Order: sequence, then structure tokens, then C-alpha cells
Amino acid sequence: MRDPKYDILFEPLAIGPLVAKNRFYQVPHCNGGGYRDPSAAAAMRGIKAEGGWGVIFTEQTEMHHSSEITPFIELRLWEDKDIPGLRRMSDAMKTHGALAGIQLAYSGINGPNFYTKEVPLAPSAMPIRTFTNDPVSARALSKSDITDLRRWFVNAAKRSKLAGFDLICLYGAHGFGIFQHFLSRATNQRSDEYGGSLENRSRFAREVVADIRDAVGDTMAITMRVSLDEQIGNLGFSNAEVREFVELNGDLPDLWDLAQGAWEDCSGPSRFKEEAAQEVLVSGIRELSSKPVVGVGRFTSPDVMARMIRQGVLDFIGCARPSIADPFIPKKIDEGRVEDIRECIGCNICITGDMTMSISRCTQNPTFMEEWRKGWHPEKMNAKGDSSTVLIVGSGPAGLEAARALSLRGYDVAMAEATTTLGGRVARERLLPGLSAWGRVVDYRQYQISQRPNVETYFDSRLGAAEILEFGFQNICIATGAHWRADGVARQHVVPMAIDAAMPVWTPDDVMAGKHPADLSGRTVVVYDDDHYYMGGVMAEVMAKAGAKVILVTPSAYVSDWTRNTLEQGAIHLRLVELGVEIRLNTGMTAVRAGAVEVNCSYTDHRRELAADAVVMVASRLGDDALYNDLIAREAEWADAGIRSVKLIGDAAAPAPIAWATYAGHRYARELDTSDIGDALPFRREVTELEPL
Ligand code: ADP
Ligand code: SF4
Repeated sequence: MRDPKYDILFEPLAIGPLVAKNRFYQVPHCNGGGYRDPSAAAAMRGIKAEGGWGVIFTEQTEMHHSSEITPFIELRLWEDKDIPGLRRMSDAMKTHGALAGIQLAYSGINGPNFYTKEVPLAPSAMPIRTFTNDPVSARALSKSDITDLRRWFVNAAKRSKLAGFDLICLYGAHGFGIFQHFLSRATNQRSDEYGGSLENRSRFAREVVADIRDAVGDTMAITMRVSLDEQIGNLGFSNAEVREFVELNGDLPDLWDLAQGAWEDCSGPSRFKEEAAQEVLVSGIRELSSKPVVGVGRFTSPDVMARMIRQGVLDFIGCARPSIADPFIPKKIDEGRVEDIRECIGCNICITGDMTMSISRCTQNPTFMEEWRKGWHPEKMNAKGDSSTVLIVGSGPAGLEAARALSLRGYDVAMAEATTTLGGRVARERLLPGLSAWGRVVDYRQYQISQRPNVETYFDSRLGAAEILEFGFQNICIATGAHWRADGVARQHVVPMAIDAAMPVWTPDDVMAGKHPADLSGRTVVVYDDDHYYMGGVMAEVMAKAGAKVILVTPSAYVSDWTRNTLEQGAIHLRLVELGVEIRLNTGMTAVRAGAVEVNCSYTDHRRELAADAVVMVASRLGDDALYNDLIAREAEWADAGIRSVKLIGDAAAPAPIAWATYAGHRYARELDTSDIGDALPFRREVTELEPL
């Protein structure tokens, strides 16, 4: 039964001519699939419908071919041909009474047009503003271009209606949509009636909304997504100007969708942003307009959600990442199962799917984007197969997810853990600065497992092959994890580097185990990062906070290079600067000597020495697969021991981010006792239909 304090989240509310059944609003979010994987993306939205969301949106949809953001893979609505694919998505969204929304994006100064080869159009002529500083510029829209663009929006709105959508979101946030480019004095330097005063800069938005309302407004609602604060200095569209804009144009859209700054500001990872971080920026805007307001803030707590509505901060709870980690949040709150919510950990791995143009993953929800490809459902598992018992060795994210999912299938699961805590690497990493929310990977699974009668956990149980052969389990899942290498092997060095034993060298495992002195005042520590994800930056932070003078050495041109894909690279660099860390980019490490390290320039190989008292070696990790190899060596004994399968999963098989481990655990659980597919592809794939020659 639902707790009455959450009733407020289930009150229906009108959006223009339509009514949303509740206050759960899945704001537009990318998924790395988009136009390339339309059925996969549609099925993912369908799961949200089943999970109870009142409003469900597409990702950004390029509404005209003259503005597109290749290489990023979103949706396209360029011609009638695109309608069936989008209808598949709107159909899926509407299956359980949700309103289906499409976000129309004209990328303007953000669209390099690499695919269409059209000249980009924007309010003012200037270089295209993208993550990759593409060497192309936009031409300023002429008056007749603006007339064309208004018509293109109307065409897209009509096609959206034909595609079955209820709501149209006009994108003007995150620096990505043309409405913001008109509103901001940074990107709109026009001297005609579309530039200058705020009233002039709002003109284009007013015209487009009026045009669309005339065309489809009787049956469709129009929402406008604007940034709460562009945060690019004095010329940017500031929070004060946003308030003025809403006040001036209070009744313009049927709903205001407010999102913070650039994408990296809006989707701030938990390392740098708390839940509801945008509250100050959004508070009070609702009073400036008669229209409802939706805002985001990585909301996972139903109490915070209810407070947002009760205090009049928001009318709708906007969620992207929380709806990815748990598409069933509304249903779980409704059914009084809030403890079952699989909370987003704010790691931004989902965003890396878009940034790498692959297909998204989620650390917490391994079924994300596999709903169609593999037929995986986030809440339901396939039926149990022939065998009955599974021994999982290791309780890291891979082992824990395998245990949770296998127990749902009905297997009797025993999980053996060498230490006295569940969670493997997550149990250690959650104690690092900024990473406590990552502990939710363990907390969610630990609770779920505790509710199941068919999972037994054994601590202090470091198992060897001999014991496993004695136990009599039918299936053995080896999830024994990985360890950081101390020998420097990663990318710069493919064989161990020269290291003098007189120099203290700590791996991240050593640091997490507290093997370094707690007080490092007066000592110089070199953090060598040839891993390039978060660990190097975090280690530098730990060392600096312990009082050391820290020199971060990395062969890359960026601190924590790969975190550009999780949108936190800038924040990490800034934090290290603030902590006084000396940053040496494009610099490798060629030798560790007593009292010094030898570093080299990544380009010239010019070498020099840096005096140091210790080194933190953030190189690479090696899978702990010895137990698996022992078992394989004794395969002849399996049949007598009753063993039917032995499998190596997660970091023990191949070290990778935590999301890879939860995926591996889930996959293991899904595939146990299923028939061998031989050489067939293990997922469904959509191939573009060929046009006639
Ligand atoms: P993954 O990310 O693949 O889940 P982790 O390194 O997070 O891997 O977790 C592996 C877990 O396995 C650790 O908690 C570790 O203590 C445990 N472990 C390793 N070897 C054994 C073993 N032989 N018996 C039981 N537990 C083990
Ligand atoms: Fe949240 Fe991480 Fe999942 Fe994204 S990948 S939804 S940030 S848990």
C-alpha cells in the first residue's frame, strides 16, 4: 500500500489540453541508440511506461536536416520516412497511459552538420560550439532563413503529431537548442528585432510557439526546455534573465521544463553534485507563470520528490538518470515498496554510451537498452532451467548481481566471500572522497538478497579449487575480481618498468587498505595515472588531503582523460587545482628510483627527474583468475563432484568499470541453463533497410 505522504506525487495535472496521470516526468535523455537502434530505444521507453511514469519523452530529435550533431546518435525527424520509427516509440510510451513527448532540437550553434554537409545556421555567425571544438562555423540566419526555420518547426510538429506524440518539447537548454542560442547574448549578437533586448531575444521562441499552437495546439501540448543558468559569464543567459524571460512570457508554453546550465552542469555526477542540486536555481520560478514547472536533480528519494511538490518548487519531478537506474520508481512508490528502488549512483556511465556513440549501459540497471536487444526486463527474470544450485565465489558487483538475479529465477544460491564485507571493490571505493553514493550498488543488492530465502552468504570464506570440488554445487560462478598492478604495466609500458625497491610504491589497493602513512605532510608523492578513468584523480585527492605535495603525472593531454565521457573531467581538474596538485600532462614515467622518478615527454621523450618520497601507481588491473584456472585444470573431476558448469565473470575475467561487472553478473544469471546459441549473435540488431539502387 502507498504511504499517504506520497499521494501528492500521484495527483493528475493538466499540461495544456492534456492531463498527466501523475507527477513522474521522464525528461528527454539520450541512450546511445537513437536512430541507429530505434526498436531498442522504443522498448526502453516502453519499460518506463510499464514502470508508471506519467510523462515520457524521447531523446533530442533533430527536427531538420540543416542542423545535426553527428557523430552523436539521437533521433531524426527530417522527412515522413522517419515517422514509423518514431511511432514505434510513441506507441511504446503510451501503453500504460503515459503522455508521449518528443523533444524537437534545432542544434544551431551546436550542430556541425558533418553528415548532411549543410552550412550550419545560428542566430549569429560564429564557430560551432561542441565538445570537440570542430573547425566549422555557422552562418547567421537571415530573415528569410528565420521564416524557413519557423516553417520547419511547424512541419516537424505536424510530423510529431502523425508519429503519435502528445507533447512537443522545444529544446533550449544545455547549450544544445536554438531557443537558448536566441535567448543568450553570448550566442545572439544580432542588431535586428531578434537581438538586443530580452523581449527581442524572446521573439523567435514566441513566434515558434504561436506557429506550432496554430498547427497542432488543439490536441498537443507544447513545453519549453530552457537552462536555469547558462553559467558562461556576464553575457550568458543567467538565472536572473531566465526569471525575467518566464515572467515576460509566462503563458508561452504549456509547461516550463527547467534544466541547469550546460549538460555537465545539469547531469553532474554524485562526486560533485548532491541530489536536488538545482533547487536554489529553480525555486520561485513557478510563481512567475501560471503554467506547471518540471525540474531535475537526480531525484531518487520519494521524500525529496514529495517535498519538491508540497513546497511548490516543482509541479513535476523530472528524472533522466534515476529513471534509467530504476524505470519502476513510480510503481514502487505507489505499491509501498520504496526500499526496492534501485537508486542511481550518479556515475554517469549511461552518458558514456552517448559520448562514445555505442549504446548506453547503466551501472545499476544492467537491462538498460537490452530490453529489445536481449529481451531483458528490469524487474522480471526468465524461468529457472534444469539445474538448481549455484556457488558464486566473490561478492563484488558481479557476484552480487548474479546472486540477486539468480535468486529471482529460483536457484539456490550460495555466495562465498573471502573478506567480512559484501561488495568487493565497491566496498572499498565507496570510502574514497566523493564516491559514497556508489555504495548503492551494494546496498540495493544486499537488501534484495536479504529478502530472498534462497541466497546464503558466507563470509571469511576464501575458497580454493579443492573445497569447491567437495561442495557439490552444480554451477560455479567465479567472480573473484581484480587487483591493481604495482609494476606500471598499462598503456605506456606493456612490460614492467624499472622500479627501485627503495622507493615506496603504493597501488590504489594499498591506498584503500591504508598502507600509506595517514599524515604525509612534508612529503612529495607522484601519482602516475596511465589508467585515465577516475582513480588517478581520486588518488591525487586522497594524497593531497593527507597533506602531501602531489605531482600528478599522466601521458594523456587531460587529467582523468576518459572522464570527459562522464562529463566530469573539468570538475576533476578544477578540484585538483584547488587542492594544490601540480599537474603534468603529456608526461610519462620511465623509471622509479630511490628518492626520485624519471619522467618523459609523451611527444619528444625528453627525460628529467622529479624528486619524490613515494609513488602512487595507477596503471591497470589484472583479473584474479587463479581459482578459475585451478578448476579448469581439474575439469576431469567435475562430473564426480556434480559440477555442470564453471564460469569466470566480471573483473576476474577482464577488469572494467563497475557497470561491466553488474552486466556480467546479470548476463550470467540470465544465461545459466539456456541453450547454446553457437555462433549466433547474442542480441537482436536492427539493420537499415536498403533503398532501391
Ligand atoms: P567484480 O567487480 O568482478 O565483482 P570485485 O573485485 O569487486 O569484482 O569483487 C571480487 C570479490 O571476490 C572480492 O570481495 C574478493 O574478496 C572476493 N574473492 C576473491 N577471491 C576469492 C575466493 N577465492 N573466495 C572467495 N572470495 C573471493
Ligand atoms: Fe545513474 Fe550511473 Fe545508471 Fe547513469 S549509469 S543512471 S548515473 S547509476
